Order: sequence, then structure tokens, then C-alpha cells
Amino acid sequence: ILADDTAFSRHQAANLRPETVQALGDRIRESGVKYIYYMLPTLGSRTVAKVVPAELYERMLKKGIAFHRTALTDLQTSREGELIGGGVDAHEFWGLPEPETFQVLPWDTEVGRIFCTAYDPPHLGEGGGRLVALDTRALFKAAHRGFTERTGLELRSGLEPEMTWIGPGIEPISKQDQSPAYQVENLEKMRPVYKKVISYGQALDFTMIQGDYEDDGQIELNWDYDRADLTAERMTTYRQICKQVARELGLEASFMAKPYNGKMGNGCHHNLSLWRVSEDGPAENVIEDGRVELHATQTARHAIGGLLLHTPGSMLVMASTVNSYKRYWDAGQFAPSGADWGLDTRGVAIRISANGRMEYRLPDASVNPYLSHLYLLAAIEYGLEAQIDPGDPGQLSEAAQGGAVPNTLGMAIESFEADEYLMGAMPEELTRIFLQLKRDEWARYCGIITQWEFDQYWEA
Ligand code: ADP
Ligand code: MG
Ligand code: MG
Ligand code: MG
Ligand code: MG
Repeated sequence: ILADDTAFSRHQAANLRPETVQALGDRIRESGVKYIYYMLPTLGSRTVAKVVPAELYERMLKKGIAFHRTALTDLQTSREGELIGGGVDAHEFWGLPEPETFQVLPWDTEVGRIFCTAYDPPHLGEGGGRLVALDTRALFKAAHRGFTERTGLELRSGLEPEMTWIGPGIEPISKQDQSPAYQVENLEKMRPVYKKVISYGQALDFTMIQGDYEDDGQIELNWDYDRADLTAERMTTYRQICKQVARELGLEASFMAKPYNGKMGNGCHHNLSLWRVSEDGPAENVIEDGRVELHATQTARHAIGGLLLHTPGSMLVMASTVNSYKRYWDAGQFAPSGADWGLDTRGVAIRISANGRMEYRLPDASVNPYLSHLYLLAAIEYGLEAQIDPGDPGQLSEAAQGGAVPNTLGMAIESFEADEYLMGAMPEELTRIFLQLKRDEWARYCGIITQWEFDQYWEA
């Protein structure tokens, strides 16, 4: 994917087709948008953007935005004081807008947004004009297209991001030894929150389906599943919606994996299914066969086999922070910590709770959704191709065993490095920089003295 140095010029030519320019201009004029965010998601699940007056849209279609390369690694500095992903003299990337992603912000209709794709500048000569390996969004789209070409299948997914809200007026009502989960009075306290999130979601093209209260300040609001690249994009948008709602209501909203001891962490189950797409008929879910009894079809079993085999290796992506692993250590909080599967049980990594979908439960809400889908797709394709049988629930087959599931970020780095297939599944530059970021994060954490250590060791 990354060898194509005509990528930039082809994208630019498509942007400059008269009908494309006209269509974007019409949408800007009709909506009354005066400013536009040109934006890209970063490796660390944030979004970087520049704001440009809307009237310059034609210039932007041609030239896009330029950032220092390390914008895609959130300009993170290593322990040694170096920018990760390129030093100060690393060249810029150019982000070309994708006009079809234009949307109006429902909370301020004078502002619009457009996603961009990152390229190395064409003027670089060797390597110029190519897709940037750190643009996980573009990478996943390309990987998914490749998967569809090879298999005739499309990955569809539905995410369940949980998140924690704090602030005046939403303190939970709970009784000792009982969970505040699902209590309507707690949901009532969150009424200002869910009303705004749902209506902004609907305005931004989400089909919002349901929501609940799960632990102190924790809610989950769901939207319908869709093609995996669209779902990943909505996760980025969902974060922006929630941050906006928090600003409006004077609250704080966090997707941190495990904010409190003894309370549930913020998971982000990935519900997955595979669809055969054809031009002359409706798409067909190939892991659904009409049988009513809860079960996994043969194709689903192969996908599960691949997912489980590569679970230890992909934990670094699914649970990508130091804090992610705290979720698995807190017993009794519904977070799985092994590579296993089952029908209707919440203690496993992959749950079949309804025929036709596989619920991958290990990721947490701080995940980079493009990267998680990239690796899940790679694991699924491996399973389908090698026809890996996962064994029965509770009795994992030899073929699906990929080793111990890491339970710290440090171990996850080792497990990732030990998985040759996953290490090779992404461009070398992405793998290398992602590992560098994670090693640095782990080293900084290991070097910090915590309150727990004082409590434990001060009185010798
Ligand atoms: P849970 O029972 O785990 O709490 P939710 O109802 O909260 O599940 O979320 C289920 C998610 O799975 C929703 O986003 C839904 O759209 C999605 N989903 C349903 N069917 C499929 C499918 N066939 N493929 C992928 N995702 C699906
Ligand atoms: Mg749910
Ligand atoms: Mg939940
Ligand atoms: Mg939960
Ligand atoms: Mg779930």
C-alpha cells in the first residue's frame, strides 16, 4: 500500500474534478458554514486539526494542510527528550481532504469538519507522494479494501465504548454492596448528558440505538453497527461529541480504561461480523446460517480461532496504555483476561451473545479504533485462511493457543514482538514507532514512585 508514490497526485486530481469542487462548494454555501476543521486522528486516539475559513475550500482541496510528522504521534517526547516519530528536522506530511467526509458541527453550525489523508510531500523525490504509515485511518481503509478484494467479504462492526463522567449534579446514588448499574434514578441524573450526546450523534449520521448506566458516573450509549471503517470513524467522532457535551454542561468526560479501583473499567467491546457483498443483491452475513440455537458457524469458528491465536500479540493495541491492564486485575468487574471464547458468558474474550456476531471484549475505551480494527482484521483473515479450529468453549484447541495473555503493558510489548505475523501485518515504520512509543510509556511508568509504594513501604 505504501509503495505507491502516485497516491498523492491521484487523490489531488480526484479532489479537483469540477463536479467534486462544485459539490463541496454547494454544501458549504447551503449549510452556511464559515470555518472548517481539517483533521486527522493520531496514533494515540486523539485528533489533530487546523481551522481554515470555509471560503478557501478550493485551495484546500488542492493543497490540504501540512503538519510536522510528529503531530501523528501527538508530539510525544521520549524519556531522552527526543520527539518520537521524527526529530525536529523531520519533514512535514501533507493532509489532503476527503470532501465526502464533510459534516456540519451540530453544536455550532458555522463550523464544519473534513477528514484528511496524510501523504509525504511529493517534492521529497524518493518516497514523496506516498501514504504516511502513521495515518492509521488511511491504513485501515486500504487494508479493508484489500481484504474485500481477496475474500469478497466485508468486516462490519459495532463498538460499545463505556466512559466515565464526573462533575456537579451527577454524583451517583448507590447502596453499599449493590451496584448502581441500570438504576433509572442514576440514568435520570445523566439525562442532560445522554440527551445531548444522542441528538448530536443523530445529527452526525449515527443511528443511536440504546444506552445505560453501568457504574459510578459510567454510561454506555450505543449506535448501530456498520462497515468497520465507518464505525472506527464514528468512534473518533463520538469522542469529540462527548468532549463537547462535557464542555457545555461543565462536566468532565473520560475514556480512560480504569479510572477507579473497585469499580468497572471503561471497556469497548468490538462486535464483529463478516458479510459477502455483491453488486446485484443484498449483503449476506456469512457467520449467520438461520439456526436459532445459540452457536458459532464454521466460518465464525475459524475467525474466532485466528482472533484467539493472535490475542496475546494484539493486546498491545487492544489495551494500549499502562492503565488498560488495571482493568484486568480488578476481580469481579466483568473484564475478561484470557484468550478464550464462549456462548452467553461475560468472563471470556469472545462471546457469542447472539447468532451472527462475535463480541471481542478485550479492548478498552482508550483504544485507537483504526488500529484495533486493523489487527482484528489481520487475525480474522489468518484464521479463515489457515482454517483454525478454536476448540470448544472451555477447551481451547492447540491450534488457537498463542501463549500467555499479557497482563501488563511491559508484557504486552514482548507478546507483540513475539507475534511475527502481527509484526509483519503493518508497515515497518508504523510497527517500529508504535513500539517505541509504548516502550517509552512503560519505562516512564516503571520509573515513577506511586502513592501505593509510600503506603506499603514507608513504615519498614
Ligand atoms: P451488549 O449486549 O454486549 O451490551 P449492545 O447492545 O450494547 O451489546 O451493543 C451491541 C453492538 O453490536 C451494537 O453496536 C450493535 O449495532 C452491534 N451489532 C449487532 N449485530 C451486529 C453484527 N451482526 N455485526 C456487528 N455488530 C453488530
Ligand atoms: Mg453494551
Ligand atoms: Mg457495557
Ligand atoms: Mg461494562
Ligand atoms: Mg458488550
